[in-house]
Amino acid sequence: MNHKTPDLSAFEGIDFTEAEHLQVVIIGAGPAGYTAALYAARANLEPVVFTGLQPGGQLVTTTDVENYPGYPDGVLGPDMMQDFEKQAARFGADLRYGIVTHVDFSQRPFRLLIDEATPIRADAVIVATGASARYLGLDNEKRLLGRGVSACATCDGAFFRGVEIAVVGGGDTALEEALFLTRFGTKVYIIHRRDELRASKIMQQRAVDNDKITFVWNTVVTDVLGENKVEGLRLKNIVTGLAQDLPVEGFFVAIGHTPNTEVFKGWLDMDPQGYIRTHPDSTYTNIPGVFASGDAQDHIYRQAITAAGTGCMAAIDAERWLAEQGAIDGVRTETEYHVAVAEGNR
Ligand code: FAD
Ligand code: NAP
Repeated sequence: MNHKTPDLSAFEGIDFTEAEHLQVVIIGAGPAGYTAALYAARANLEPVVFTGLQPGGQLVTTTDVENYPGYPDGVLGPDMMQDFEKQAARFGADLRYGIVTHVDFSQRPFRLLIDEATPIRADAVIVATGASARYLGLDNEKRLLGRGVSACATCDGAFFRGVEIAVVGGGDTALEEALFLTRFGTKVYIIHRRDELRASKIMQQRAVDNDKITFVWNTVVTDVLGENKVEGLRLKNIVTGLAQDLPVEGFFVAIGHTPNTEVFKGWLDMDPQGYIRTHPDSTYTNIPGVFASGDAQDHIYRQAITAAGTGCMAAIDAERWLAEQGAIDGVRTETEYHVAVAEGNR
């Protein structure tokens, strides 16, 4: 459990008596949020989605998505997310630009504040706020993002066939990314700031046993080199102080992800990294009526398809929970939806 005490000071002086009262609020507009919206809309729950700062989520920051089923030729991340948005909107999901800045889950309906100011009441809430990859914070790392710099080997590894690649980090993610990248690259360097890995022993052994992997110990990346694409890294050994340039064409940052769950701290049960804990095989959180989906609750898979899958689960869980509370007449399953359409009664 995250033990931060919920801070309700932002709610002081805000009148909730006249606030809009919604059945289902979905927080986040990535694959999880849009999928939850699609299912909730088709169940007649009239969901409202608050998109946050990045409508479309993490995939709007990438180019080709080649591993999402249904797009045999691949698709651009932003195009795919537009398709998600259109499909949710087609069934009546109400998409609104706004950041959920504060929540009060101590009473039902739940109370939310949008952009610090607008009060909203909600019978059920689906959290789909995703996670953000951590980056080193170098100017050129940011400039060359998507042009050789990436934080997702599963997504971008195949673009680096036959070239040398570097990964920064010493945890399980870095080693997993590096092992995956050996399928494509001729050589994969793992650059780590210490001489000891944080990763599990089994991952360490796999990496050490792999001939394509070379460790660069006690070393930090001080710059990413290249005009229009990555051409190398500037490194500094923190023991000797020596600087060196390493020519690589791919640079994968694997220094951890931060789930976007700060706003829920103190309310929702989380693991030490801030990922929301959900009950096994469901999207139920410790607060009845609040459901969590996508990267905000998944530190293992972190893929668009798994985020979409748990978004679907969250909408179905919310619908069934609302029916149990007597807040809706009954559960309207996808089968019932098709019957209604066939009868001309959507
Ligand atoms: P996100 O996509 O992170 O969306 C989160 C949403 O929540 C955003 O709309 C954000 O604005 C919103 N939000 C956050 N906080 C708030 C708030 N307080 N109030 C309101 N809204 C809020 N996966 C693949 O399967 N294939 C790929 O090819 C692939 N490529 C990737 C490339 C890159 C560069 C990155 C970074 C990731 C890639 N991934 C890929 C991973 C994939 O993007 C994620 O697994 C997926 O986007 C997670 O979806 P999500 O809906 O949980 O969260
Ligand atoms: P992590 O365990 O927190 O490791 C992050 C790594 O990045 C650490 O080695 C850290 O160095 C390094 N790092 C952090 N900030 C840095 C910076 N600014 N510059 C350089 N290096 C920096 O994160 P993770 O690897 O993403 O793993 C997160 C969790 O998911 C872990 O619990 C992990 O076990 C789990 N996971 C498991 C698997 C698996 O089982 N296959 C796969 C992936 C993830 P220091 O070591 O010096 O702190």
